[in-house]
Amino acid sequence: MLAGHTDVVPPGDESAWTHPPFAADLADGVIYGRGAVDMKGAIACKLAAVLDHLAASGKPKGSISFLITGDEEDVAVNGTVKLLKWAAARGEKFDHCILGEPTNPDALGDMIKIGRRGSLNGTLTVEGTQGHVAYPALADNPVRGIVALMSALMAEPLDRGSAHFDPSNLEFTSVDVGNKTVNIIPREARARFNIRYNDRHARDGVKALMQARAATAAGGRIRWSIAWDPSNVDVFLTKPGPFVDLVAGAVAEVTGRKPQLSTSGGTSDARFIKDHCPVIEFGLANQTMHKVDERVPAADLVALTAIYRRILERYFGT
Ligand SMILES: [Zn+2]
Repeated sequence: MLAGHTDVVPPGDESAWTHPPFAADLADGVIYGRGAVDMKGAIACKLAAVLDHLAASGKPKGSISFLITGDEEDVAVNGTVKLLKWAAARGEKFDHCILGEPTNPDALGDMIKIGRRGSLNGTLTVEGTQGHVAYPALADNPVRGIVALMSALMAEPLDRGSAHFDPSNLEFTSVDVGNKTVNIIPREARARFNIRYNDRHARDGVKALMQARAATAAGGRIRWSIAWDPSNVDVFLTKPGPFVDLVAGAVAEVTGRKPQLSTSGGTSDARFIKDHCPVIEFGLANQTMHKVDERVPAADLVALTAIYRRILERYFGT
């Protein structure tokens, strides 16, 4: 299965672009446009590779499918999830998937993604008692409590990483009291945080770990709670093996470079595909994704097409 999304992020201020964001202008061998690398470019390469492969080798021993979706850059409700469900209801089964997200930090051949971290968002709330700032004994300042609990949650690393993943990480993204006055001790304090976690944890395990740290730090003195946002971003890993070797070998053959196997970066629709078959990601270089003047050298499209074609040849043994 060759997968990709056709939706794109907005262009932002179109006057900041040197070429119109939806014209696909070719200038000096470079194609400009929103989605050039993330990721209409890779979809075009996959289509071209399959057409070339069928023309040269005839009907494959097996089948080739495209999972071309939308709603990837947003909440991911009306895209890959629904399409995979529809395919499963029809009895479709998939052996392997290559998702064409732009995976290379600098140049084609740098990096294959073989997994992604999980992501969880939470809100830590500490309840206090409102009162006069000059009479703290009559109040209970939740700012003291939330500072203690935030320190506790951040104090220790969540782990030291694993064979294929960086250490899990927690970042506080906002701390809010919302108090506009100078002489009131507020009633409540909140802090938002995000956790990117590796394959040493499952989603519920991360939650339990945070709850335990908060409970220990609170020690019955601080009134606290953590509310977790719903999440569909679980950690996954496609273990290195014959399929990863096949793709890495094809990349090396065309580019002369040995791609790094990585689980870094943000999330992708691979998190849904992994429930159906092993999935890895390889696409274009990603320096300009989501930026003004998103662009791709036409030569990279030709090379990526050659890589996908080589993958098909290796996969079907032709
Ligand atoms: Zn993308």
